[in-house]
Amino acid sequence: MVTIGIDLGTTNTCVAVWRNNSVEVIPNEAGNRLTPSYVAFTKTERLIGESAKNQVSNNTANTIFGVKRFLGRQFDDIVLQKDIKRYPFKIINCNGKPKIVIKHKGNKRTYSPEEICAMIIYRMKEMAESYLSVKVEKAVLTVPAYFGDAQRQAIKLAGSIAGLEVIRIINEPTSAAVAYGLNRRLTGKRNILVYDLGGGTFNVSVLSIGNSCLYEVRAVAGNLGLGGEDFDNRLVAHSLEDIRKRYGIDIESPKNLLCLKSAAETTKRSLTSARDAILQIESFCNGNDYYCRVSRTLFEKLCSDLFEDTLKLVGDVLSEARMLKHNIHDVVLVGGSTRIPKIRKMLTEYFDGKHLMVLNNPDEAIATGAAVQAAILTGLCNDNLKRLLLIDVLPLSLGVETARGLMFKVVERNTPIPCRQTKEITTLEDFQTTMTIEVFEGERTLTKDNRLLGVFELNKIPPVPRGIAKIDIIFEIDSDSILTVSARDRSTGNSESITIKNMNKLSKDEVQTMIDDAKKFREEDDENKSRLEVRNQLETYIYDVKTTVTENLDKLSGEECAHMIGECVNALTWIDENPDCLREEYERKMSELLIRWSSFLRKIRGHVVKRQRSELYSSDGEDNGTTVEEIHEEK
Ligand code: AMP
Repeated sequence: MVTIGIDLGTTNTCVAVWRNNSVEVIPNEAGNRLTPSYVAFTKTERLIGESAKNQVSNNTANTIFGVKRFLGRQFDDIVLQKDIKRYPFKIINCNGKPKIVIKHKGNKRTYSPEEICAMIIYRMKEMAESYLSVKVEKAVLTVPAYFGDAQRQAIKLAGSIAGLEVIRIINEPTSAAVAYGLNRRLTGKRNILVYDLGGGTFNVSVLSIGNSCLYEVRAVAGNLGLGGEDFDNRLVAHSLEDIRKRYGIDIESPKNLLCLKSAAETTKRSLTSARDAILQIESFCNGNDYYCRVSRTLFEKLCSDLFEDTLKLVGDVLSEARMLKHNIHDVVLVGGSTRIPKIRKMLTEYFDGKHLMVLNNPDEAIATGAAVQAAILTGLCNDNLKRLLLIDVLPLSLGVETARGLMFKVVERNTPIPCRQTKEITTLEDFQTTMTIEVFEGERTLTKDNRLLGVFELNKIPPVPRGIAKIDIIFEIDSDSILTVSARDRSTGNSESITIKNMNKLSKDEVQTMIDDAKKFREEDDENKSRLEVRNQLETYIYDVKTTVTENLDKLSGEECAHMIGECVNALTWIDENPDCLREEYERKMSELLIRWSSFLRKIRGHVVKRQRSELYSSDGEDNGTTVEEIHEEK
């Protein structure tokens, strides 16, 4: 059974597999190893990846991207609220959760971020299946190290909606570290710092690698709302101001903003190799072309606070790992945004001139590590890999609320996982028989500043004065950093437990509805594929007939030729004007044309066959061409 590794990125997604003792990154239908994390809904079909991204400017409201940033977030989450204003598609509040509203086939529909991610994951599964020619049912998915419990749950759910069993969730920098160590002989103990700056998130991790096989994460830190898109947005803000000053207009339409964002990204990328670049958009400001020269220095100035923020987190992670910068043997760069020269310069200076390790394909490193982990977990790897052991850490502290809304931490962040920790709590009131246990995630002292993961009750506590009852709170965190909490009354042994995933998010029915919906969509996709195939066959047939007629004008009368050419032109116009017909309608059209044109084509064929015979007997023939009916017979 093949298991794949998927790196679902904010900007791009990458899938890889371990085969023949090495990792193979699987290309998409266009031959690219990275697939844009885009899903689009049109009047007739759903598009995923390249095709979705390519049509974004004509279908802004129904092209969804960057949705990984919404995973596991509540609607009123600050990062999400900031993002909503920038995205051209509509996001609504559905019982406290964000849902994306789109129009598809003339109908309004809403999707959760998990469902959109599932569509991208499913495309990766399809790509892997067609590349490997086997069914793929299991996967290792990667997540930013700083993803909390809700976000990990969300990605796991997305995997199952996509029809995959997610056998492990691993942290992106850990995965990249595995890719880094893959073909290197690392002797002794090496400390590495993985600086991972992608399109939407920033993660930094410190790991110790022992003898090439023990990967021990020492600490993680990050910012889930900081990445390449934020740099693009700084350039967008600069251009908006420039347009306001130069033309006196405010650009507000989502389509124009998207255009500007895309131009800003291109400019940003150009500034990686050039010192100056022009941000340009044709027919933009009141129909005028817009040009704005941006120097690398200006770009660096616009983003300087964001770049600095990443360095602050590097400092934090080092102190969490109880290391000094000279304890780090290698600094490994991962993620597309680490190509930015200023970032490299700042990091080199921070590490006192240390040479930075840039992996060969920094955008593929995470999927590569995930494919290795998938092979290890399924035992389909060589002996060297079998020795490899990953020890990850919990990204955020977990605890319960105690008196006056205080956060009582049960498991501190950066504790190695899997783990189990028990803490004792007691009742706050005299003769209290029920205790409500609220589980939180976060670093702040007051629970109101942290994220509520779930609530459950422990009943039948013997009525004793406050402070006497002894209740054990047990937190168990599995290898995916997913939490189960239980509470046990020591005097009676009575206990209650919850796996946060069951109560935090969606009911079983809601999950099933999503899975069924995704299945329906896939059936629609298959139907659409076969509809397009029939349309293409019809179009090819008409072109073939047209060519046959024009190459055999002498076989028909002038009137017949004009009639057939006219018929072909009309039929091609009909296809152009009816791009959205059902498969049956194209089939009907095909049968109709086959019948209508058969006598003309027979006539041509009759002449051709006659000529072929006479040429055969005179044995000095030239190339005769083939009639369309013969082409179809050959097929
Ligand atoms: P990732 O999530 O790792 O695929 O990274 C995607 C981010 O990298 C996007 O924001 C890209 O704009 C950014 N990126 C890719 N190539 C470059 C480049 N040459 N210079 C600057 N940023 C880049």
